[in-house]
Amino acid sequence: MEKTTPEKVQLLIIGSGPAGYTAAIYAARANLKPVLYQGIQPGGQLTITTEVENYPGFPDGVQGPELMVHFEKQAQRMGADLRYGLATAVDFSKHPFQVTIDEEKQVEADAVIIATGASAKWLGLESEQRLNGYGVSACAVCDGFFFRGKEVAIVGAGDTAAEEALYLSKLCSTVHMIVRRDEMRASRIMQDRVKATPNIKIYWNSVTDEILGEKSVDAVRIHNTQTDEKIEIPVKGFFVAIGHQPNSDIFKGQLDMDEAGYLKTVPGSAKTNIEGVFASGDVQDKIYRQAVTAAGSGCMAALDAERFLSEKGLH
Ligand code: NDP
Repeated sequence: MEKTTPEKVQLLIIGSGPAGYTAAIYAARANLKPVLYQGIQPGGQLTITTEVENYPGFPDGVQGPELMVHFEKQAQRMGADLRYGLATAVDFSKHPFQVTIDEEKQVEADAVIIATGASAKWLGLESEQRLNGYGVSACAVCDGFFFRGKEVAIVGAGDTAAEEALYLSKLCSTVHMIVRRDEMRASRIMQDRVKATPNIKIYWNSVTDEILGEKSVDAVRIHNTQTDEKIEIPVKGFFVAIGHQPNSDIFKGQLDMDEAGYLKTVPGSAKTNIEGVFASGDVQDKIYRQAVTAAGSGCMAALDAERFLSEKGLH
């Protein structure tokens, strides 16, 4: 596609979860005139969750999408320039940094904050890909509604899987939870809630071999890794909740990252290996991955960016 004349901005923020919006709030208040591109999922992962009970400041809990609307409005009120668009390529080898939006628009930025988050992981089965959107989903909150009164399966044993299994248990007749080890990774309170829910049936030491069905999901075939017993469970929905991967593909070869693709930052800061490029939120955090830690690191990125721009005489 033909490239357009670049637009020059002082600070570009890529991503619109808690990290991106918090960076925008701080940067706008510091008069850095941030421009933020929201990416493929404005509001980020919290927009596909239900109740958030652990974000401080909401004693009665808050719905994830509502929380992100608050973030967005606050960033807007501070004067951040929020835009639809996905960063599709970057060139950090020269300054100002070059960023391509939607494969077309060129933006030149004195400083960049990356807050692109993470996305759901898949098992990698052919049938999972083929039936994606036809009964296979990575978001119970988005798609659970379609399986009201029906049997569904969910694979995973972390907090996400536990939360989604509980959500589904309120809509579906039975939730078959497929756990690959003999224990769950989820926090104790979530495990206890799952185990105490009568219509959640847990299959320990079990892995998914295939999702069965031609045009839509009819069943799932699993096997027990201890006994080698194979069973087919008739289900209409198959939910994958096995964790996330960082959205860092476009930075490969330019920014330091670990083997899983998480961007590396200098401890105690949001600095990447390129001066003037900062990273915050889940794209650089494989340990905490909470909305509140993402927001905190977005704040750090904005403060680091402000310092960088001042020191370079760019602000
Ligand atoms: P996690 O990485 O914590 O858990 C992933 C789960 O999926 C693990 O049980 C893992 O099994 C399992 N798994 C991974 N790959 C496969 C596979 N190929 N086949 C079968 N099972 C697989 O991811 P989550 O998304 O659950 O949570 C991410 C972070 O977010 C965590 O820190 C969590 O605490 C937090 N979180 C907090 C919430 C809250 O506080 N309300 C809600 C949701 C998430 P194994 O254990 O064997 O590795």
